[in-house]
Amino acid sequence: MGSKKNLSNMSQKIFIKTFGCQMNEYDSNRIFDTVKKIGFKKTENYKEADCYLLNTCHIRDKAKEKVYHDIGRVKDSFKSKKKPFVIVAGCVAQAENNEMLKREPYIDLVIGPQAYHKINDKIEEYLSKQKKLEETDFDAEAKFDYLKRIKNNTSKISSFLTIQEGCDKFCHFCVVPYTRGPEYSRPFSEVIDEAKILAENGAREITLLGQNVNAYKNKNFKLSNLILEIEKISEIKRIRYYTSHPKDMTDDLVEVYGFSKKLMPLVHLPVQSGSDKILKLMNRKHFISDYIKTYERLKNINSSIEFSSDFIIAYPGENENDFNSTFDLIKNIKFINSFSYIFNPRPGTVASNLKIIDKKISLQRLEKVQKKLFDNQIEMNKSLENREIDVLVENKSNKNAKFFGRSEYMTSVIFDGNDNDVGSVIKVRINKSNQNTLFGESLNKSEQKVA
Ligand code: SF4
Repeated sequence: MGSKKNLSNMSQKIFIKTFGCQMNEYDSNRIFDTVKKIGFKKTENYKEADCYLLNTCHIRDKAKEKVYHDIGRVKDSFKSKKKPFVIVAGCVAQAENNEMLKREPYIDLVIGPQAYHKINDKIEEYLSKQKKLEETDFDAEAKFDYLKRIKNNTSKISSFLTIQEGCDKFCHFCVVPYTRGPEYSRPFSEVIDEAKILAENGAREITLLGQNVNAYKNKNFKLSNLILEIEKISEIKRIRYYTSHPKDMTDDLVEVYGFSKKLMPLVHLPVQSGSDKILKLMNRKHFISDYIKTYERLKNINSSIEFSSDFIIAYPGENENDFNSTFDLIKNIKFINSFSYIFNPRPGTVASNLKIIDKKISLQRLEKVQKKLFDNQIEMNKSLENREIDVLVENKSNKNAKFFGRSEYMTSVIFDGNDNDVGSVIKVRINKSNQNTLFGESLNKSEQKVA
């Protein structure tokens, strides 16, 4: 690597590897927009990188070990070459901070998710002093204040836009309040400006992101206000938001489903368990009766709305009755496109010390739940066969010259189509389906069909 003086004149290559959620994907894109300012170019081949950045996630099992394993692989590849400058970012960096530098001397900089606005300074500081650094302050306001001056260069048809970060809810199983800090909502005008830039870059769908996205509140603006304002951007055809908390499904947000023309009818609303007893043990701060009320209100507003959710199976204390309540809820609401996994303790959380449920029982419960969720999905997809549905066309696959898009419910659609359809919402006739994908053909005949 060069010195502080010449860094911006050199063509340094950065490889960014992203683990985890959409918010990390958004962050990785914004980190790249930032380091570009000091001369970095992106490479897709980590072996030729001058800088290796790992954007980590703390949600899944063995997150920390995965990071050290990945760094070990880089170390091996660079055995006979000059080592790259190694940065660990994201939630594992936040949770482990200085410990990472001690355990793995190959790492040069550890930077938490609320400190990305300092990344260029930190890189330059490291290069001039050759001293390992750790930066894990919670300063979301300063971060977004800095980032708003750096253009978002993402140019995907379906783009993410982070509007909110952090969480004040402290569910007993979750690390987010510790790794992302307190709830922070970006200013309304800043979000709208970024949405316009994304539209200019080619975005036709925007997914508004936040750890608690429906808790968004800046001055008097709420998530519903953002949705209605973004809806005015003519290039944007679809709006989604992810991920929400049942307690924050306020009246204004429920009602917006009645008149928004661009808000998609898939409501991702994590319930985690169908038992009030377990919800209390999880410190979820909501009840099943309220959840069902929200579901019924939304269905009354628009009967085509479907729900997806997250489920933690075999949370400590879950007995057969509790599990059956979860199963019944899945049967009644007919969730689609959902995530389910066995409880896994995250170090540092309240639930990390609780007694784990027997592995065999946990697995049996998970299998039962997943079978039901998959059956719901298959049934939903089957019901669309021989029907015309709206699809936002995202790209064309080089392999088989088919086109790829998504239904209003986020299901993948593969179909015979036209080059000009990319970026448009078109009618596709569905001929067949499986659990995860719909197959069909474009009904838009105005252009030459792909063979
Ligand atoms: S509301 Fe969501 S982000 Fe916040 S603590 Fe609970 S699970 Fe984690």
